[in-house]
Amino acid sequence: MPVPGVPILDGKYPSSMDLYPLEAKEFNRIHQFYENLRQKRFTTTKCKKCGHVPFPPRVVCPKCNSDDLEWVDLPTQGKVLQFTEEVAGVPLGFEAPLIHALIDLGEGRKLVSRIINCKEGQLKEGDAVKLAVFDIPPMIIEKKGGVMDEAKRVFFAFEPVKR
Ligand SMILES: [Zn+2]
Repeated sequence: MPVPGVPILDGKYPSSMDLYPLEAKEFNRIHQFYENLRQKRFTTTKCKKCGHVPFPPRVVCPKCNSDDLEWVDLPTQGKVLQFTEEVAGVPLGFEAPLIHALIDLGEGRKLVSRIINCKEGQLKEGDAVKLAVFDIPPMIIEKKGGVMDEAKRVFFAFEPVKR
């Protein structure tokens, strides 16, 4: 059976080389994040007790340890503050250029994300980028009763806003 994960690694490497998380609700307590991504929503958890809004989403508030959390939407567009662009020797499973950017989502919120759909040398500091959601290879999971199932997966990056 081929090893699910990064296509070029199928059947060549153990699934521990898979770059993406197991998203199914049977295995992942923040699976709602991925469900929301499928709806093109970029979300995280907000603590109902102290109001802290960390990213990535949590199952317990890192500030006050409460597990009374709710899902809130984050902006899906931001501005590139700084970035790195790898044009050679990128890790297996990625294509060059491999771009990572520190993105300002506004309201004092910043995050690092991969930038896709961008040619080498095109990205500039200050560029507007928006959320991009894409399918990644499914993961084979075992459900109750030993039933094997294919769990579909999505992941996100940001991409330049077309001008
Ligand atoms: Zn809290």
